[in-house]
Amino acid sequence: MDNNSSKASEIQSDLQPYVDYMEEAIRLAKQAEDLGEVPIGAVVVRDGEIIGRGYNRREIDGNPLGHAELMAISEAAEKLGGWRLEQCQLIVTLEPCPMCAGAIIQARIQLLIYGAKDPKAGYAGSLYNTLQDQRLNHQTEIIHGVCQEECQELLQSFFRRLRAQKKEHKAQMSSQYRESGTGSDSPIES
Ligand SMILES: [Zn+2]
Repeated sequence: MDNNSSKASEIQSDLQPYVDYMEEAIRLAKQAEDLGEVPIGAVVVRDGEIIGRGYNRREIDGNPLGHAELMAISEAAEKLGGWRLEQCQLIVTLEPCPMCAGAIIQARIQLLIYGAKDPKAGYAGSLYNTLQDQRLNHQTEIIHGVCQEECQELLQSFFRRLRAQKKEHKAQMSSQYRESGTGSDSPIES
């Protein structure tokens, strides 16, 4: 246990240059959370400057393409005036899905840095590693584990709250249902 934690802090210190960018991605993820979205945030960096920001907007936009990474990549491409983001790094709170991993390759992103692993949908090492498939014409370097615990906790607490809300809602519905049934000859009651 102690070995693991000292190893983790060693890695953390190596990753220090990326922590500030990840903090910004986390801030964007919280912005998504405030809108009721799954909290995921991303930034694109070039020459030490953030040139694209994005957060998950799938629900509010009603758009399956509304992922944080795609939004950050689009903004960066617009700012640079072209689709090639060869000198750019993408920093995102959660391991990218298949769609975003594809977009990272299409954009020729140089380096991906992500916080939490996604064992159920991650395509940057968990289920598959699109970014380093040698058959493709571009490969992207990967660093993971930057602010990992914070990124993980962000998602876990979101889903915990969501489950609690659903449970509460269900309890409310059933108590209302019981109240409306009280003293009536509701056929549903009997
Ligand atoms: Zn995605």
